[in-house]
Amino acid sequence: MSNPSLLILPGDGIGPEVMAEVRKIIGWYGANRGLNFDVSEDLVGGAAYDKHGTPLTDATMAKAQEVDAVLLGAVGGPKYDVLDFSVKPERGLLRLRKEMDLYANLRPAQCFDALADFSSLKKNVVAGLDIMIIRELTSGVYFGEPRGIFKEGNERVGINTQRYTESEIERVARSGFEMARKRGNKLCSMEKANVMESGVLWREVVQRIGDTEYPDVELSHMYADAGAMQLTRWPKQFDVIVTDNLFGDLLSDLAAMLTGSLGMLPSASLGAPMANGRPKALYEPVHGSAPDIAGQGKANPIACILSFAMALRYSFDQGDEATRLEKAVEAVLADGFRTADLLGEEGVSPVSTSEMGDAVLKAL
Ligand code: ATP
Ligand code: MG
Repeated sequence: MSNPSLLILPGDGIGPEVMAEVRKIIGWYGANRGLNFDVSEDLVGGAAYDKHGTPLTDATMAKAQEVDAVLLGAVGGPKYDVLDFSVKPERGLLRLRKEMDLYANLRPAQCFDALADFSSLKKNVVAGLDIMIIRELTSGVYFGEPRGIFKEGNERVGINTQRYTESEIERVARSGFEMARKRGNKLCSMEKANVMESGVLWREVVQRIGDTEYPDVELSHMYADAGAMQLTRWPKQFDVIVTDNLFGDLLSDLAAMLTGSLGMLPSASLGAPMANGRPKALYEPVHGSAPDIAGQGKANPIACILSFAMALRYSFDQGDEATRLEKAVEAVLADGFRTADLLGEEGVSPVSTSEMGDAVLKAL
């Protein structure tokens, strides 16, 4: 049997720096756990634009469609701000998501015990937090038509359309229920059925999928504004949250900040099952290319490392190995290793990107 395939797209800014650490870890799994991957690497974003004049070539796109999983670093940077929108680095990532039809964006918000002392981070962190937000990623107000700025009488009007079909709601609802079954068997769906027709349909469809296909999962509904309030007031009441594209954007950023640093947060974007039964998938850290620290060896590689852990779990059926990697990260943090973004205390000196990667390797 051939090895599972992984396409690595390091991208721009700190992307290649954090990805170098993940490569070490992939190597460790091959050497020590007999887990070998067919790894290929390619350009995306500004790096692809510099070489090919486009943020994603057709050849790279085709490759992404074939592999078992894509692991991406980050795209963009100030150098590319002047580019036309059609060739901006971000367009490369958007094309990947759209053509792979990655409709379920999984964003875990998990607080590592070692970082729970918020006095050292000078941030409000929720100790023990472990929730999963699933954001619908390919529809809703981000894509609905009509959209644009139009002339209306003697003034202009900006229009976006929130639009969801039943089948779009059904498939992301199933992602939510499946995730709930793998975790605490509890799903909270959020919309604004009180003021939006798409919300009325969303609630009805999620309830029907729950009643007919997942009666074992405890389902609740919340208006998204109340959800935001509850997430800050008592975040641990939630396990899995499923919501639409726009509310998911807001709620997942909110939840992320309950955990500490942007440098710690992984994500997965999943699509329909492939022939092998696993979903099409792209894994990436939540953070961007961090131009302010790029090239200085300061970036925290943990978000990217944990994104690979998600790939192990959701694309390669290696849940135990994913847990092993997450435990190694936990151990390294408990030992006091901190990249600059995790530091608050005076007198503690930060470790570099590669020192953090090496520490995780050693803990493995
Ligand atoms: P984008 O538009 O790509 O989302 P952004 O500027 O909104 O970019 P980031 O690139 O994620 O967001 O950077 C936000 C801040 O967080 C920056 O100050 C950056 O240095 C910091 N940061 C982001 N990721 C990391 C990381 N992995 N390690 C350390 N600091 C990080
Ligand atoms: Mg940003």
